Amino acid sequence: MTGGEFDLIARYFAPLSGGEPGAFGLTDDAAVLLDTDFVVTKDLLVEGVHFPVGEARDLVARKALRVNLSDLAAKGARPFGYFLGCVWPTGTTEADVAAFAAGLRTDQSVYKCTLLGGDTTAHVKKAAPLTVSVTMLGLGPRDGIIRRTGARAGDDVYLSGTIGDAGLGLRALARRSGIAEADRGALLARYQLPMPRLSLGGALAGVASAAIDVSDGLLADAGHVAGASGVRLDLSASRLPVSPMAARWRDGEADHDAATTFLASAGDDYEILFTAPPERRRSIEMAGQVTKTPVARIGVVRTGEGVRLLRDDGSIVRVERTGFDHFGGQTP
Ligand code: ADP
Ligand code: MG
Repeated sequence: MTGGEFDLIARYFAPLSGGEPGAFGLTDDAAVLLDTDFVVTKDLLVEGVHFPVGEARDLVARKALRVNLSDLAAKGARPFGYFLGCVWPTGTTEADVAAFAAGLRTDQSVYKCTLLGGDTTAHVKKAAPLTVSVTMLGLGPRDGIIRRTGARAGDDVYLSGTIGDAGLGLRALARRSGIAEADRGALLARYQLPMPRLSLGGALAGVASAAIDVSDGLLADAGHVAGASGVRLDLSASRLPVSPMAARWRDGEADHDAATTFLASAGDDYEILFTAPPERRRSIEMAGQVTKTPVARIGVVRTGEGVRLLRDDGSIVRVERTGFDHFGGQTP
């Protein structure tokens, strides 16, 4: 296989979306069903790839909804309903399915969305991975969704919440992770149960110039905005918001730059990276306050291409891996 996940999508699938403007050439977080208010996204979770083998079934269900809700959040859309596809491994018990459904029920009531249909099948092979596919429908904001394409030179770059916690949570499952015992549970929880930033996303509609949810890794997803908008994103390493737990881990690492780039490329954060012109700073601050969401200004948009991670003295932090690609390719 040549190229990464995004090359494959561009070469084989994007041409199939050809005549439909609402598909955006398969380069955004969600598609728009033109002449309706619907915004649609789909994300797939596979056991052993997106969640640990044997993960509690209610948590799998909730994560499956939340990763999709995060795409809606980044577009400023609000949840409506979803279609669910499940491939259950041989040996699944009714209690497993009941736990899964209970997880769905919990998050349906948290996020106000409803199951609309789907498909269910059993896998004949022993130890096959549980596979869950969700197609989520949302309702777009009145002025249209926030695309990845609107970042312009001179805009500020912002990030909600903190980065790297989920990546550390996954790392905490491995031995010799370097993570303090006391921090493991909370970090793992951030990996298991992302918090889609729906209220913030809604408040950013009409304010942010571009947005993406951070699923592959901050640097990789910043690269997606840079590519879609035809600009460069310069991010300040010292401004990247990290939790006290992540800061403790980083402080214990010998190589501070390597630790920072780990946090900025680990993925599974499900925060929102967005841009806005400097005259909107007050509106952004208000959006953060009203929705009780921490928002940090982490960089600026420049002419050029790609993403740079800069130290305070202006020197560039070398980055070897910007994020996650299922086919091993390197995202810009
Ligand atoms: P996200 O992380 O925002 O969910 P992805 O990285 O999964 O986005 O996908 C990038 C783009 O490629 C999206 O527009 C998505 O709809 C599209 N895409 C990915 N896989 C496929 C596929 N198998 N068929 C059609 N479109 C796809
Ligand atoms: Mg996305």
